[in-house]
Amino acid sequence: MINIPKGTKDVLPSESYKWHYVEDKLRRLASLYNAREIRTPVFEHTELFVRSIGDGTDVVSKEMYTFEDKGGRSITLKPEGTAPVARSFAENSLDALSLPLKMYYIIPAFRYERPQAGRLREFHQFGLEVYGATSPYLDLDCISFAYDALTGLGLKNIRLHLNSIGCPECRKTYTAALKGYFASRLDEMCDTCKDRYERNPLRLLDCKSPICKAIAAGAPKITDYLCDDCRAHHDKLCALLEKSGVPYEVDENIVRGLDYYTRTVFEFVTEELGAQGTVCGGGRYDNLVSSIGGKPTGCVGFAIGLERIIMLMEKQGADFGKENLGVFVMSQSSEQTDECIKLVAALRKAGISADTEMTGKSLKAQFKYADKINADYGIVIGASEIETKKVKIKNLSDGTEEECALGDIEARLKEKYNG
Ligand code: ATP
Ligand code: MG
Repeated sequence: MINIPKGTKDVLPSESYKWHYVEDKLRRLASLYNAREIRTPVFEHTELFVRSIGDGTDVVSKEMYTFEDKGGRSITLKPEGTAPVARSFAENSLDALSLPLKMYYIIPAFRYERPQAGRLREFHQFGLEVYGATSPYLDLDCISFAYDALTGLGLKNIRLHLNSIGCPECRKTYTAALKGYFASRLDEMCDTCKDRYERNPLRLLDCKSPICKAIAAGAPKITDYLCDDCRAHHDKLCALLEKSGVPYEVDENIVRGLDYYTRTVFEFVTEELGAQGTVCGGGRYDNLVSSIGGKPTGCVGFAIGLERIIMLMEKQGADFGKENLGVFVMSQSSEQTDECIKLVAALRKAGISADTEMTGKSLKAQFKYADKINADYGIVIGASEIETKKVKIKNLSDGTEEECALGDIEARLKEKYNG
């Protein structure tokens, strides 16, 4: 037998309704927020991610699925959705449209990581990107969307951690102060942090190792180094969040892994998923579009990890709705199969989901099957039903039955479903 690749997962027919529930809710929320879907390819030129995410990051240096295609081009399966959207925005001159432009996506993303609960090599994200303005009102809109999404899915005990990492100017002074602080403690820190010291010093702040964490706790705080404009942006956003009733805490250790962030960075975290507790990450990236050749464009966005959301919903016993078959039509014997097929076709035409027996099962086995697939109603067609033109509609969850003329079934069921 050929098995599924490590770090990937099938969504089986018995589980897909959960994904539909989550995706439908998010799509509906997107239209309430005036966001339109953008679809970009599963793979891009490797250069796009190297230039935008940055080659000092874990994603680019260790986690990308990169290969040469038959034409000798270096291709990468997208590890995230933000850079491809920026590429498309610049390439298609979307700035010619009315700005701000709100876009969303639901994508598979690929990262070569050590697989564990909530950490896969192919995973899925819902992302929102708001392009075309640097105003903190758009940071608010974006964070409110994420907050509404998570609470609307019924999730509890999720906290918003917010920080500002300033602009390249204030970050320069801050990075120098940070390196000054860590220089004397570096020999006590983990190997990854020793490497980060040169490659990506901000990341020294979000190491998960207890020793590094303790050392990082005493590090200089970015918020003490923000320039006036970055400071004003951050303060305004905090005030707006308070007014909107979105609970948050400023957490100076949130830096996000990727190079393209400026000013606002945030994460929604839960304590119920162990080390994989970040269910949503985002921020502002005003230099991203220009870094890949487009015009300078203010952008803010986030991505939600859908596997983590679904895991947490399952853990918290959230409601996923249901996807049932409406009616299973059963035949007393194979002689009635044609009649059953006719009825099923009429039901489907009327917008009622229906199926029937086609494989020669006994009536008892047909009832078992109807039960297994969670059909709402069962209708048995035998010689007498055809002769009298009357059937019984059986409610399969409570066992009650009601009589109905063969010709009235569609109307009767429509009434049941539509009230
Ligand atoms: P982490 O710190 O957990 O590695 P990240 O900062 O690398 O997350 P982002 O690039 O911000 O993640 O991606 C947004 C969201 O996608 C994360 O908050 C998380 O919910 C989800 N995510 C990221 N990597 C994975 C993965 N390998 N498997 C499953 N979900 C993931
Ligand atoms: Mg990661």
